[in-house]
Amino acid sequence: MSGQGELELYVHIPFCIKKCRYCDFLSAPASAYTREVYLKRLCRQIRNFRAEEEYEIRSIFIGGGTPSLLSGDEMKLLFESIHDRFVLDPGVEITAECNPGTLTPEKLSAYASCGINRLSIGLQSADDQELKLLGRIHTWDEFLRNYEAAREAGFQNINIDLMSALPGQTISSWERTLTLTAQLHPEHISAYSLIIEEGTPFYEMYADAEDKRSRGLDQPMLPTEETEREMYWLTDSILSSHGMHRYEISNYALPGYECIHNIGYWRRIPYAGFGLGAASLIGSRRYRMTEDLDAYLRGDDSEKDVVLLSQKDEEEETMFLGLRMTEGVSLDEFRKTFGVSMYSLYGSTIEKLRSLGLIEAAGGRLRLTAKGTDVSNPVLAEFLL
Ligand code: SF4
Repeated sequence: MSGQGELELYVHIPFCIKKCRYCDFLSAPASAYTREVYLKRLCRQIRNFRAEEEYEIRSIFIGGGTPSLLSGDEMKLLFESIHDRFVLDPGVEITAECNPGTLTPEKLSAYASCGINRLSIGLQSADDQELKLLGRIHTWDEFLRNYEAAREAGFQNINIDLMSALPGQTISSWERTLTLTAQLHPEHISAYSLIIEEGTPFYEMYADAEDKRSRGLDQPMLPTEETEREMYWLTDSILSSHGMHRYEISNYALPGYECIHNIGYWRRIPYAGFGLGAASLIGSRRYRMTEDLDAYLRGDDSEKDVVLLSQKDEEEETMFLGLRMTEGVSLDEFRKTFGVSMYSLYGSTIEKLRSLGLIEAAGGRLRLTAKGTDVSNPVLAEFLL
């Protein structure tokens, strides 16, 4: 409902050199031929996009998978289709996700000439042993070479993805990863905790380790909850000492470099998704593309799992997503959007959370306190009506 007239684009590239051991994203290795056909289908889907109104494109996110597997020429084809169909805002943020080990100076300069002005590099850890355990293809040194090449190619807005609470990770190895990364002065860092997803090799390892632990035969595979909390606080303290501020539960930026695309998602700006499994939210309508690669390659770009969100769904999402940001949710905007005050819907929940010191109202906005951020999942769940 909010931000009408603006649209964000998400483009999914579902290919990787090899599957990481913790990953349940829609991505897999593929042949050059599959990638070529996929790109054709993707460009066609973009050109065929129909909407009831014309939108201004405020951000584009090329995500994956590993979009940096695309050659410079392939990226140019993709952007030709985007420019054929959409008019981009002059200040558009265009991010490409990249993995260390897949970038070259030639590729980076071709990406820049496509208008890509932000890179998001999946480092995850500065420790080669941890990278190996995760099943990543790169080392810290390879990352460094790629990062420097990105700077040399002129990229002035770079995010680095990091991952904490890894098996065997200690506070000091996480501290080292954070410090080495922050010393490179990236504009943005996303730091998420590892989540063990069903169906991944890590899930099997975890189940096995838990079984052994329950029989007193082994140590827990993952850091304890207390250690994880400590890692979270350490992240905030190290990154803020390097001039970065936390603007969302897991995201840190230098002032002015907060990710436009992600903020749009948390504010529920409409987005259109292209490519395998990509989700869209246009008005109150949510849908996604097929998750079946063969079907997509055959040209299936019909809308799947279409859901028409009710006002209640949208109110819940506004709170649930908006409170992830440190600025919180504006009471005034909520009332203008939904025609009801936040307090009339959530009065007792807000009072309860406020008395526990988990939430606060300030400057016409409701937001999580530091204590509320520490236990954000159960706090946010309170806003499901
Ligand atoms: S590079 Fe990313 S998308 Fe690809 S397998 Fe690894 S975690 Fe998954």
